[in-house]
Amino acid sequence: MHVALHPYEDRHVDVPTYLLEFGTETTGGEKYEEAPRCRCVGCRWPMFVRSGSRTPHFVHTNGSHCWLIKALEQPFVPLPPGQPDPTAAHQLRLALRRNWRRHYAKLRAMVPGLSREEFVELLEAAVRHRIFEYRGVHEHSLPRMMVVLMEYPHTAGLRGQRKHWYRFVVRSESDGTAEELWIDRNSSRLDRATFRPPTNARTKPKLPDLIGLEDVPDDDRWLSGSEPQVHKFVEVLVEEWFAARRAFAG
Ligand SMILES: [Zn+2]
Repeated sequence: MHVALHPYEDRHVDVPTYLLEFGTETTGGEKYEEAPRCRCVGCRWPMFVRSGSRTPHFVHTNGSHCWLIKALEQPFVPLPPGQPDPTAAHQLRLALRRNWRRHYAKLRAMVPGLSREEFVELLEAAVRHRIFEYRGVHEHSLPRMMVVLMEYPHTAGLRGQRKHWYRFVVRSESDGTAEELWIDRNSSRLDRATFRPPTNARTKPKLPDLIGLEDVPDDDRWLSGSEPQVHKFVEVLVEEWFAARRAFAG
């Protein structure tokens, strides 16, 4: 990956910045023990710089069991709700319809350059994966649950507003089911991963393309306060989408 935590400070560094400060390239051998290790932005395990045939990048030293590698390699597919709660699901759907402008604004704050078409795709994905039917879901968790359902390529999104590729990953202290996103908010967190766009247009970016990882804080303040204004084009598209779906009718 192309990003790591500074050896001593709580900030991200790229390879050139690290080498500038700490000199010699470490190859991972004991030879370079004197160079302070930077740390993985995910698991905080020590990392070193590998050059080889590719652009110099950060690699874990031996023995890491990095949750981030696992999270980035396996695309996230939520399990169907085990014990669906149809009454709560109905209330959640109505709340989403009533407050969709707030949800849209919240998702736009999470995903740079989110387009109205992508917002509708997220609504479709939420229906397909039945996320409303899980037990114990609060409305303020919906954007966190929805945002992991898609990839955000640099080629999509609002024109000219997205330079990178984004993917959201669930970090879990236990074995990692996304249900923790809304059940036990203390043992899991959500991160936004930023990637260099892949050179091959048909592939998705992988761990080596990672250039950033940021925590997405959990809060519910955005659900109160004045309702955000949305553009007429968005308004029409989204209202039509809801109107065509009986499950969202009161
Ligand atoms: Zn790691």
